[in-house]
Amino acid sequence: MMSRIAFIGLGNMGGGMAANLVKAGHEVFAFDLSDAALARAVEAGCVAAGSAAEAAKGADAVVTMLPAGQHVAAVYGEQVMPAAGAGTLFLDCSTIDVETARTVSAQAVEAGFEMVDAPVSGGIAAANGGTLTFMVGGSAEGFARAAPILQAMGKVVVHAGGAGAGQAAKICNNMLLGASMIATAEAFVLARKLGLEAQTFFDISSKASGQCWSMTSYCPVPGPVPASPANRDYEGGFASALMLKDLKLAVEAAQAAGAPVPMATQAEALYQMFVGLGGAGRDFSAIITMLEGRSA
Ligand code: NAD
Repeated sequence: MMSRIAFIGLGNMGGGMAANLVKAGHEVFAFDLSDAALARAVEAGCVAAGSAAEAAKGADAVVTMLPAGQHVAAVYGEQVMPAAGAGTLFLDCSTIDVETARTVSAQAVEAGFEMVDAPVSGGIAAANGGTLTFMVGGSAEGFARAAPILQAMGKVVVHAGGAGAGQAAKICNNMLLGASMIATAEAFVLARKLGLEAQTFFDISSKASGQCWSMTSYCPVPGPVPASPANRDYEGGFASALMLKDLKLAVEAAQAAGAPVPMATQAEALYQMFVGLGGAGRDFSAIITMLEGRSA
């Protein structure tokens, strides 16, 4: 069913996502602080709004794709909630801290709205191609209303639990990914120093108990997995700066929840170091270059 949707935050990810909502037949009222981002959305068929509040007025649903928790809290608290009609559905697709996700959701529900947190897995190509995975936190009713909208922007939509559960699933997954990439990179570096060819080590370990996604789908050395970013000098893929952001969110959430995460703490420190060496824009598997003693 066609809906009137407000889309706020039309950056690297949001631009393609808003375009896919237009393609699915929705009427999309878009807003971004950046004029260039807004102009691209208009080219893709969105209607430009003068503010987030103006976009939200009269919308059936509001989708946000913003950098961090403070932006999400400000956009909903100051713009969207005062303008939106009763019962409007809010979908925050940004990756933000679990605490802010739960606070904003509680405020929205209190004010008579429905809200889900729906962070994504998949990068810019998946956002453009409409093949994202959404991890959704919210009530069963909220999920049922959100699912058809999210399906227009992705291929997998999973209900993870109540408010904040989508963010929890996202950061736990990426915490595991960050640590497993560093462990995989370390193993390849040591294998080489011990005289093992990378391909030989891959052939053995990918069939043995060391096997993991970081090795078999995203191998940090060139050769064994032709599609991995290592084969194109670590360009594109998932930027190390975004991995660092997610590790920080995971460690922060772990501290608040009293969960010990020594591996994630170490992974955060190593990605911090790599970003400090100039690796922010490189794919996160490029951390192997730091372990090899090459520059970022
Ligand atoms: P981005 O910086 O390219 O886009 C964010 C957009 O929000 C910008 O265009 C900015 O102008 C706009 N914005 C900021 N404050 C605003 C406000 N108050 N009102 C209106 N617009 C505002 O970031 P991105 O790469 O698109 O990422 C968005 C979110 O998705 C982040 O939370 C990120 O962690 C997450 N994410 C990104 C990727 C990726 O590969 N880029 C993958 C998964 C998840």
